Amino acid sequence: MYERLGIDKDLAVLSQRVERELSERFCAVDALAEENQVKVLQAFWENRVSETHFAGSTGYGYNDRGRDVLDAVFASVFGAEDALVRHLFTGGTHALAVTLFGVMRPGQTLLSVTGSPYDTLLEVIGLRGEPGAGSLMEFGVNYREVALAPDGRIDTEAALGQLDDPAVSAVFIQRSRGYRIRRALSVAEIEAFCRAAKERRPGIVIIVDNCYGEFTEDREPCATGADLMVGSLIKNPGGGLADTGAYIAGRKEWVERCAFRLTSPGIGREVGATLNQNRNMFRGLFFAPTVTASALKTVLFASALFQSLGYEVSPRPDEPRSDIVQTIRFKSREALLAFCKGIQAGAPVDSFVTPEPWAMPGYDDEVVMASGSFVQGSSIELSADAPLREPYCVFMQGGLTYPAGKAGVLLAAQELKRAGLLQKG
Ligand SMILES: *Cc1c(COP(=O)(O)O)cnc(C)c1O
Repeated sequence: MYERLGIDKDLAVLSQRVERELSERFCAVDALAEENQVKVLQAFWENRVSETHFAGSTGYGYNDRGRDVLDAVFASVFGAEDALVRHLFTGGTHALAVTLFGVMRPGQTLLSVTGSPYDTLLEVIGLRGEPGAGSLMEFGVNYREVALAPDGRIDTEAALGQLDDPAVSAVFIQRSRGYRIRRALSVAEIEAFCRAAKERRPGIVIIVDNCYGEFTEDREPCATGADLMVGSLIKNPGGGLADTGAYIAGRKEWVERCAFRLTSPGIGREVGATLNQNRNMFRGLFFAPTVTASALKTVLFASALFQSLGYEVSPRPDEPRSDIVQTIRFKSREALLAFCKGIQAGAPVDSFVTPEPWAMPGYDDEVVMASGSFVQGSSIELSADAPLREPYCVFMQGGLTYPAGKAGVLLAAQELKRAGLLQKG
């Protein structure tokens, strides 16, 4: 099989050893998938999901029963009071922007406690980008941030100190690493911070950017103290089947505010035609626990393989995970591009193209993206992206099935070997 893939014997042998060493971790991932799958099933049962809910609406989309039931199912799975799940969100950034504009008012301050947020949010906040784009800052919202502590945890003392300023009305937490060289925060860490923050300032609104985090643990931040959390449906909770969209979940009063921002004040969630998207969103959520498990196994395999090949990887194979992202440090542009070329070659779609770096809107540096996916830009499907900046770290994630994810990772290692860029072996 490896020969057919074009993988050298020594790499194949190494990969078998690496996989054997991961067997305990893989068992734990399977157990997690089981736990989350049951949670999803129970939410479908409780909400009596039925064929009629898959019928789409048109026009205004009044009385779209499927849309309302989908919201209830997501809320139940996530342990939230309420949820807004819409294909109308163009992605995670849009849902996060709707959330921030839904919650923040002029004169108030948003406090990020995980340092600089994900690249695309800088323009939403107004830290970068064109004047006139309508950022939060243009509307009189202030922003402040507390950097993560050197050990990668929330600097609780510094963050709580900021809460003594009554202008600070909301706290922003990014769970996953995004394009930063940092670790993901566990749900337990987020929970502990939420408890401390609410003790200091009972009225504070806590917003979690939950992108890439869903189903990597057995509970989500809005079940453990966050008021709102936001994620993309072309990542974990869409199960690789949602064609587009995102969700906002959390406390009812705040989800309602976000709904008014998504459509219009006074109209809120009563409208929004679902066209033919309901079935895919229900089906995607149903698959999400096992698809996320495949993605976790794929990155565990990549982490262990590339660590064995002498690379600095994060997380390491034995570290706990709270997102599906893996970073591998390549130190050179050529090695990074070779890795991405291999990942692309392993994709089911567009396997024959070579990814080239380009200046993507919303990002500071040139970005290279390897993704041969059924859904454009979907990163629950095997994908690797990297900003072209020191230390040439690749951020890889996804894998709809573990065997396909593993093949892609092996092809990436083989591509480095072919180019004579492998550190070891
Ligand atoms: C992907 C991501 C986003 C933005 O989502 P898009 O769907 O790409 O707009 C925001 N935050 C984090 C941490 C992400 O990983």
